Amino acid sequence: MSDKKDKEIPDPDDLQKMIQDMFGKFGGGAAMSFPDFAQHGAATDEEGSEDTPMDIDRADAIFDFSYKPRDIKSYLDRFVIRQDEAKKALSIAVCDHYNHAKYMRGLEQEHGKIPEGIEYQKQNVIVVGPTGVGKTYLIKHIAEMIGVPFVKADATKFSETGYVGGDVDDLVRELVQKADGNVDLAEYGIVYIDEIDKLAGSGGNMGRDVSGRGVQTTLLKLMEETEVAARNPNDMKGQMMAMMDFQNGKGAGKETINTRHILFIVSGAFSGLEKVIQRRLRSGQIGFGAEVVDPNDSELFSEASTQDYIDFGFEAEFIGRLPVRVVCDKLEAKDFVDIMKNSEGSLLRQYEREFSAYGIQAKFEDSAIERIAARAESENTGARALMTVCESMLRDFKFELPGTAVSELSIDAELIDNREQVLTKYRELGQRVNVAKAREEADIYCREFNDRHQIQIDLTDDAVNKLAEEALSQGRSVLQISQQRFKDLQFGLKLIQKNTGQGEFELGVDAVEDADKFLSDRVVQSYSDAAAVKQAARAKCDSDSDDDLSK
Ligand code: ADP
Repeated sequence: MSDKKDKEIPDPDDLQKMIQDMFGKFGGGAAMSFPDFAQHGAATDEEGSEDTPMDIDRADAIFDFSYKPRDIKSYLDRFVIRQDEAKKALSIAVCDHYNHAKYMRGLEQEHGKIPEGIEYQKQNVIVVGPTGVGKTYLIKHIAEMIGVPFVKADATKFSETGYVGGDVDDLVRELVQKADGNVDLAEYGIVYIDEIDKLAGSGGNMGRDVSGRGVQTTLLKLMEETEVAARNPNDMKGQMMAMMDFQNGKGAGKETINTRHILFIVSGAFSGLEKVIQRRLRSGQIGFGAEVVDPNDSELFSEASTQDYIDFGFEAEFIGRLPVRVVCDKLEAKDFVDIMKNSEGSLLRQYEREFSAYGIQAKFEDSAIERIAARAESENTGARALMTVCESMLRDFKFELPGTAVSELSIDAELIDNREQVLTKYRELGQRVNVAKAREEADIYCREFNDRHQIQIDLTDDAVNKLAEEALSQGRSVLQISQQRFKDLQFGLKLIQKNTGQGEFELGVDAVEDADKFLSDRVVQSYSDAAAVKQAARAKCDSDSDDDLSK
């Protein structure tokens, strides 16, 4: 049924391509815009992108917002190490923002329209801090906790007119996608823009002055309040989906997204700002020479005034819309230890899971954690370096050990310091037979055999070792090899049982090496044993009757 439907209505991607090809033939431009039939929802493939009553409920759920700053901080503490001031400031800003949104929504529902004359300055935030210290991590977890959509972009990808890099408005539309097409919910989302310092005129970014200022102006409008078309007029696919929805009688949803309650958080390393601050702080003092300033001095950054940001190269109006200023500290080796040991999102858990998928129990010892932290510190990319260091330390182990006899990996200082030697040791261990495991599997096989055929078999230690060696060289399990090797064993053993009454059988190396020969030898033997028994019985019977006669 769906096939037929697919044929009737081409996929919007195909349709867009067909139309683009067609226009290409006639020399049409790429920026052709499509008539705006029924704007609503985002350009998304997701089903149910219209505002259903359930979607509205989801948006309404934000208005049960009853978190206190302390709740948000405690939640963040579970994942993010350090950054206490940033956590506090962000928790307060987020609570104020959503409490205000809740208040306004309440009034709107009560009076049927947005009440006028209520003064409120939005708590948009600037986060200053070097790379990899948890800026994105903090904001992602806040959005997750509150249940609002969250999008992140780098300021460097925007140009003032859009199209060259990316359109600033697309960010807002992306919120709708993240909210599964629910415009109502998207209007309370969080937009996070990193590398905002690259938009500053005098930040040492030659050539960005003009467009940087233009992007600031565009962002400024979004941060204040504006309406963004829910569909990009140049997104033919989105337009066509709207058209199809309209034809399918789904009706039109919201045509625009209002940015009044969208929380904007921008961030950057702001290198050079420390000099601006230092200059101002020193200007009142006479007789101080130019000391070298630490570009990671978070205390100095927390002194930054609005004027410092303007001197750094931001437009006064732009910086004025970002009243909450937050500084994240540079992380040191001891913080990395803390992250690895105590953050709920620790990547050590990830590594342990990855090894355990191959049946290897990996354990990070404290000695290794210290070494990894020290190496990560020297990389200067914040906590991101933890992954880089672990990856280069453990790559060969992850490649070579799966499928060998190694079932435990102890990640300690020795492994970090002498990786090659330790790898060689594990390689040798991997070639060695894992006797205990092989015995376990052999016993399982014997039990299964007994249950199925009511014949008890046992494998000798030598037989199990032989099976384990084969399993290792073939990359299979002892259980698999036994099942294949002894698959017809029961027929012969039953014959022997019939001939001799034997109920238990011990299988040695000879049975493993050549199961057929082992069995045929035993069967032949059982016939001769049976004949011998019979003969002996007959002889006994004869001698007994002779005795009787002689009496
Ligand atoms: P940035 O500050 O550049 O935005 P991120 O927040 O993206 O850095 O950090 C990258 C990764 O490093 C995170 O996904 C997280 O796993 C880890 N990380 C960074 N900082 C912290 C921190 N303070 N506590 C715990 N993990 C962190």
